[in-house]
Amino acid sequence: MPQRVFIKDLKDHKDREVTIKGWMFNKRGSGKIFFLQLRDGSGVTQGIVFKNDVSEEVFALAEALTMESSVIITGLVTAHPKQEDTYELQIRDIEVVQMVDEEYPISKKEHGTSFLLDNRHLWLRSSKQIIIQRVRNTIINSIYKYLNNNGFIKIDSPIFTPNACEGTTELFEVEYFDEGSAYLSQSGQLYLEAAIFGVGRCFDFGPVFRAEKSKTRRHLTEFWMMDAEAAFVEHEENMEIQEDLIIYVVEEVLKRNLRDLKTLERDIEPLKKIKKPFIRMTHKEAVDKLRKMGSDITHDMDLGGDDETILTKEFDKPIFIEKYPAEVKAFYMKRDPKDENLSLCADLLAPEGYGEIIGGSEREADYETLLKRIKEHELPIEPFNWYLDLRKYGSVPHSGFGIGLERLTGWICGRKHIRETIPFPRTIKRLTP
Ligand code: ATP
Repeated sequence: MPQRVFIKDLKDHKDREVTIKGWMFNKRGSGKIFFLQLRDGSGVTQGIVFKNDVSEEVFALAEALTMESSVIITGLVTAHPKQEDTYELQIRDIEVVQMVDEEYPISKKEHGTSFLLDNRHLWLRSSKQIIIQRVRNTIINSIYKYLNNNGFIKIDSPIFTPNACEGTTELFEVEYFDEGSAYLSQSGQLYLEAAIFGVGRCFDFGPVFRAEKSKTRRHLTEFWMMDAEAAFVEHEENMEIQEDLIIYVVEEVLKRNLRDLKTLERDIEPLKKIKKPFIRMTHKEAVDKLRKMGSDITHDMDLGGDDETILTKEFDKPIFIEKYPAEVKAFYMKRDPKDENLSLCADLLAPEGYGEIIGGSEREADYETLLKRIKEHELPIEPFNWYLDLRKYGSVPHSGFGIGLERLTGWICGRKHIRETIPFPRTIKRLTP
């Protein structure tokens, strides 16, 4: 059998006979010729079977091949006569690994999202879904790369936690042997705050869990979050790090997945405009603007999803909304020294109507103030004793932020709902497959 190659590398084997291993996802032709659409995980190509070029058995196999049958195909690599940079296989031999003998459930016709999600285990093979996972992979790797290159090391935070960042109402509770209840982590932030005293700058990247009953296109109950935390970084610099990170990620995707984005029909012009500086606006300015645009939001309110959509449609760059009223934000956020009612925080909203992709803030570093905040939020003190300890032994100004991977992927891929960006979405109504 000739050398086995991956479809993505066909360009390096022009005019040579090679073997590929994969699946046939579509077919057309009849009579004397068949065009097989082939996929092997690395890419897609077209295999051409001419009746005159192959044995009768091979031609009969091409005729009989059903959608999603797995195959080992041998053929000659040729350049596509019309499309640049595209290579095809003039098929010489077909070995069937498994012939699918039932009709494949996902056909070419339009299916409803609910049907597709019920068949997510199969939908993941569809070309757009493969691409979204590929872009997600680039995003993950570029986040690692950027952070590692900028002095952040990965510190893995636990998933079983005894206490909650912001109360327990939005947490999944599990029984934990004789210890009573544990909660699935909704963010590793507090643990990273401990780690910075050893390593200076760190991040985690893993699944987090939110039991909030939000049924929006932006909310999952299980999603992947990257939390970053840095010692001696204050509010301003915290935003600059986020800005540089997002620019780097978008550049990497444009470099590595340009073709993929085109196949997704993602307009790449808005992505090319993601340059420094991002827009900065205080919560007060945002509310004033939104009210002028017809929203009934008031100055003491958090921005709702609809507000974020309206606001981000106005601009072609991401927007930092800074300094929210402290009462709508978490207890650990440092207050603005210029106005104690505001938090030194910023949410980063992605443009084109996407909305929040990052939440970040400077953290309260003073022991007494933090203790007061815990009490004000009516949180139990005992579980936070270790967290308070961090303010006793060499406390320093520090800041951090959390990126939702699915929201970032959703925006970059131009998908309306983030559930398509995670392999197996978990929402209030969905736990399978
Ligand atoms: P929102 O107000 O939109 O519900 P949040 O303020 O609760 O989000 P954070 O706690 O700051 O969000 O989480 C950090 C990031 O994690 C968010 O900016 C977002 O990208 C992502 N995120 C938060 N909740 C969800 C969710 N339920 N599903 C997917 N991603 C989420």
